[in-house]
Parts: sequence; C-alpha cells; structure tokens
Amino acid sequence: VKSHQHSGSSQVRVVLRVRPFLPCEIRSKEFAAVPCVAVLDQENAFGDEEEVTVQLKDQWTSRKECYKLDAFFNQENSVDEIFKTEVSAVIPGIFQGFNATIFAYGATGSGKTYTMQGTEEERGLIPLAVSTILSLCRDSEVSVEISYYEVYMDRCYDLLEPKTKEILPMDDKEGRVQLKGLSWVPVHSMDEFTEVFSTGIQRRKVAHTGLNDISSRSHAVLAIAVSNGAVRGKLNLIDLAGNEDNRRTGNEGIRLMESAKINQSLFALSNVIYALNNNELRVPYRASKLTRVLQDCLGGTSRALMIACLNPTSYQEAVHTVSLAARSRQI
Ligand code: ADP
Ligand code: MG
Repeated sequence: VKSHQHSGSSQVRVVLRVRPFLPCEIRSKEFAAVPCVAVLDQENAFGDEEEVTVQLKDQWTSRKECYKLDAFFNQENSVDEIFKTEVSAVIPGIFQGFNATIFAYGATGSGKTYTMQGTEEERGLIPLAVSTILSLCRDSEVSVEISYYEVYMDRCYDLLEPKTKEILPMDDKEGRVQLKGLSWVPVHSMDEFTEVFSTGIQRRKVAHTGLNDISSRSHAVLAIAVSNGAVRGKLNLIDLAGNEDNRRTGNEGIRLMESAKINQSLFALSNVIYALNNNELRVPYRASKLTRVLQDCLGGTSRALMIACLNPTSYQEAVHTVSLAARSRQI
C-alpha cells in the first residue's frame, strides 16, 4: 500500500470509510445486500490521482449522488491499511515538533470509535499511533505524554483527572491557545498507555451515567505529545460526536440542545477546514470551543486528516455526512 503525504492541493485530507455490515443488519428483513456507497472510478482509489469520486445510492428509491474526496476505504479495508496510508507519514513530523490532527466524523453507529479506539480484535488508530511513536523512542532524550479530554456542550473536561475538572482554553504570550491545567501523563510502554487510556474511557462513561449513549454526544480528544529537548510535537486523535439530522431524529429538550451544539461545532470545524483548504486569510477558529482548542493543531505547518465514517445501510445518513465532508474539502 502506498503512503500519502498530506501535501498537494488540500491542507486537510478528507477520506471516506464505510464499515462492514453487522450480523444484526444481515439478519434484518430490510437488509441491503450492497452498501449505500461505492467508488465510481475504482482505478483512482489508491492510485496517484488526487481525488476519488464516490457514488451514494439508495437501494430502495434508486436516488444517487456523487461526491469527490481524497480517498475511499471500503468494507474490506482494515484500520491498519488506513494507518499505513494516511497516518504513519505524519509521525516523523511529530518528532520534529510539528502538530497533526486526525478526526473521525460521522453519524452514531458509523464506526468512528471502532476506527479510533479499536477493539480487542482489531487495534484502532490511537493504539497504532502510540505504539509506532513508542517504537521510535529508543532515545532516552525523548519523552511521550498523553492527555485525554472531551468537549461536551462547548465545555472541555479532563478525562485523566479522577474528579470532574473543566479546562479553559487561554491565549499565551505568543497568542497561541493553551489548555491550562490539562493533565499530561508520561507513558513509556503500551501497557502503561492502555492502563491510562482505559481509565479515561471508563471515566467518560461514568461521568454520563444515566444518560443514554452520551459518549457519542461529546467530542473525545486523545493527544500524544512528543518532546525532545527543544521541540514538542503533538498528534491529536479525535472521536467526534455523532452528527445528526434533527429533522429525522425528532430530538427534543436537552437532546435537541446537545444536538444543536454538536451540529454547530461540526459546522464550525467544516468552516475552518474549508478556509484552510482555500487559503483564506481569516480562519474562523473562534466560532466554537472545538475549533478553538485545536487552533494550534490545524492550519499553519500542522497536518490534518478527516475520516468520514459511513454506516453501509443508511443512504440518508451517508448523504448528510458526505455532503459536509465534501464541502469542507472543496477547493
Ligand atoms: P460510532 O462510534 O460511530 O457510533 P462504533 O464504532 O461504535 O460507531 O461502531 C458501531 C458498530 O459497528 C459497533 O458494534 C462496532 O463494533 C461495529 N463496527 C464498526 N466498524 C467496524 C469495522 N470496521 N469492522 C467490524 N465492525 C465494525
Ligand atoms: Mg462512538
């Protein structure tokens, strides 16, 4: 598999991933035997072409729409392939003090957490990135630290602190955003990392006990910082909150408010990516907490990748997700 540098026309690569059918979907009466998304021009998928055209198609009504993106990962492609082609190339830069950000974006149930966090069977991009970084740290001068926080209803909470602790982004003397008080935990091995990360994941669940599947309603940011004396580079791996179409979900009350905040922040993110990809002078980082906290890791010399995740059974959701992803990529 070829490795993509995050260079060329767009500053933020936008790629698509469709997850496999789940056993319960295959058993369902309304099982769509073909996924709602396919590549029109297969040749381009992993070739030298700068973009790939995908077609979304509704099994039942035969409605169709086409979009252009940077790459497409189908139901057979593993997380490891995404790591090798899209992520591994940014890691050497982290050791030189550059920042990078990887987003998983999509509706609830589309495979964001599977792709980022992974499972016992298949490691996600987060453990793959940490293990690659650790394996490059033979030098004792280099230290690796992680932080883990979530952005919920436009507020940031540290997930590596035993008690709920809100983190406020503030500008430093150079006008760069700092997350004051955020914990950074040193990790030296995968075992150490797994322990810290799973405690954070557990804390995120406990903090929201009683609320229905809240974990998909906040953005979770796992940051890995690599310092070697003079420079400190950072890699953010972000499991974004599920983007929902409120006209279809019928959300009310707090759910609707949350949803409005989520959609607002995802829209702000898409506007920032659009501005970066179009070399606009003014990048609207301040439009949401999410884009504000990521300000030093998006744009400038930073590299970024958005992985738009799709549930293969839902054409409507796919249109909602891909249209925003394609819009932010558009040049
Ligand atoms: P999201 O985080 O977007 O809400 P999840 O990552 O929880 O979605 O995925 C939804 C379901 O699909 C889970 O049961 C997950 O295990 C399964 N799944 C997602 N992606 C894959 C994949 N690539 N291979 C196998 N199962 C997957
Ligand atoms: Mg999830």
